[in-house]
Amino acid sequence: MEDSERKTCIVCGENKEEGITVVTEFICTSCESEMVHTNTEDERYPFFVRQLKQLWVRFHA
Ligand SMILES: [Zn+2]
Repeated sequence: MEDSERKTCIVCGENKEEGITVVTEFICTSCESEMVHTNTEDERYPFFVRQLKQLWVRFHA
């Protein structure tokens, strides 16, 4: 039996199995690909940047 661990995505707040972990935070695959494809002029872009900034701050601290 496989013990699949679910983590809470910091962007959408949902529990997902697939995704990437940056430092201590988890981003699901759908949010990750969404971010990659989000144009800087998209209204959701500032939201993504704000979420990611929390990671970069910790990462570079
Ligand atoms: Zn997500």
